[in-house]
Amino acid sequence: MKVERADVMVVTPHPDDAEFGVAGTVARWVKEGRQVVYVVCSNGDKGTSDPNVKPAHLAKTREKEQLAAARVLGVREVVFLRHPDQGLEETPEFRKQLVRLIRMYRPETVVTADPYRRYFWHRDHRITGQVTLDAVFPYARDYWAYPEFIGDGLEPHKVNEILFWASEDPNHCLDITETFDLKMAALLCHKSQVGHVAVELMEEWLRHHCRDSATGQDYDLGESFHRAQPLY
Ligand SMILES: [Zn+2]
Repeated sequence: MKVERADVMVVTPHPDDAEFGVAGTVARWVKEGRQVVYVVCSNGDKGTSDPNVKPAHLAKTREKEQLAAARVLGVREVVFLRHPDQGLEETPEFRKQLVRLIRMYRPETVVTADPYRRYFWHRDHRITGQVTLDAVFPYARDYWAYPEFIGDGLEPHKVNEILFWASEDPNHCLDITETFDLKMAALLCHKSQVGHVAVELMEEWLRHHCRDSATGQDYDLGESFHRAQPLY
């Protein structure tokens, strides 16, 4: 199986998490010519407090919202794994799905949720971060991890870096001053999630958050990450 490789793979637990975590940076990378693909792990069908919104309908809505946000940012492709919301588990099958995608797209950079936040942290976020990390290293790297992949042309691949959003231990900040408006526009595509918040309030909150992230930098607005590089 041959697909065009991508420079960046963003692995997001739910539709909308990537927009909160990395959309400003994604927009900047796309402007710089990097190819970005999204992998959306769960269908987000429990993401409502309105009992009148049925899960199957919500899942469809959220896919459309995610595709709209991806268009705003210039993301090349969105892959939906459609696991049940609040149903992600650290299984060999989930890990294998991610390894397969890493070996197909062969990204230099993988971005996902930090699995190591303490206390309250959505279980899907924790598990997505952990399984992505394990998929990158060592499973995507090692030939004998999945010898059955080789016949499909899915050769081992070494990712250069992983960036984790929502980290309690950020060590890397990227300037999104120029792309903040695109991040905001992409977030607003997720109407089922943010539609109840006034746009002005949301923008104020987001600007404050991004300004906070950029504390000590020589730019105004940033997204911060914990950046890790596997030791190959
Ligand atoms: Zn989420």
